[in-house]
Amino acid sequence: MDLIADALEAAGVDENLLLGIGVGTPGMVDIRDGVVVRYPRIPGMDGYPLRDEIRKRFNVPVHLHNNAAVIALSEYRYGSVRGRQSVLTLVLRTGIGGAFIQDGTLFVNQHRTALEVGHTTVDPEGPRCRCGRRGCLETYLSEEALRRDAGAADVDAFFSAVAADEPAATAAVRGAADALLVALYGLLNSLNPEAVLIVTRSEALSSRLSDVVRAELSRRPPFVTATKRDIVPHAYDPVIAGQGAADLVFDSFFAAVAG
Ligand SMILES: [Zn+2]
Repeated sequence: MDLIADALEAAGVDENLLLGIGVGTPGMVDIRDGVVVRYPRIPGMDGYPLRDEIRKRFNVPVHLHNNAAVIALSEYRYGSVRGRQSVLTLVLRTGIGGAFIQDGTLFVNQHRTALEVGHTTVDPEGPRCRCGRRGCLETYLSEEALRRDAGAADVDAFFSAVAADEPAATAAVRGAADALLVALYGLLNSLNPEAVLIVTRSEALSSRLSDVVRAELSRRPPFVTATKRDIVPHAYDPVIAGQGAADLVFDSFFAAVAG
């Protein structure tokens, strides 16, 4: 709430002129009810009515979506995968979010976001995940897992080590890419997207991960063949992501105007 209020103040926007607020939140989201259905990383978030809590404070329409979906939408409309027919987006941070866009439409089902790619099982005997299952992708590929595997002091040090192609960091990326590929073969065979957008907070990490994935897919293609399949690396761009969140408001407003 304070972040929203601070942003309005910094931008000099009068709260009374707000058309609405668009929010991209981690976790599985019920976009109709405005509820975070599942987010195991923060205790108490499961079932949290985030939309209504924000609406109470600002008294305007609030539109909630999953953060990977918002990033996917913004990159499809304004960014690195603009106008592609179908895009699978993977967003790697503390966990791994996913979103799928086809012909401009974000995939949701039962008014809930899907593609919680981070909880795809990579190894049923693997390490315990926060979700309670074992060997989920995010136990191998989160920023923290990569930092740990590379022996870096913190995530920023890990990003620098990746950019400098230090051997421990390169090995950690390689290992994580192998885990990602296990999940990705399933996703490619299911969705056959024209582009796969790999988003991290580091340009070097996105690029190195994409290089490994691209090389491996060309050496060992999935069963489903594609006429076009681009692996697109991208560093998270908060400005473009913000446009995506704002679009949740505009899309709803203009849909209502159009009737
Ligand atoms: Zn999990």
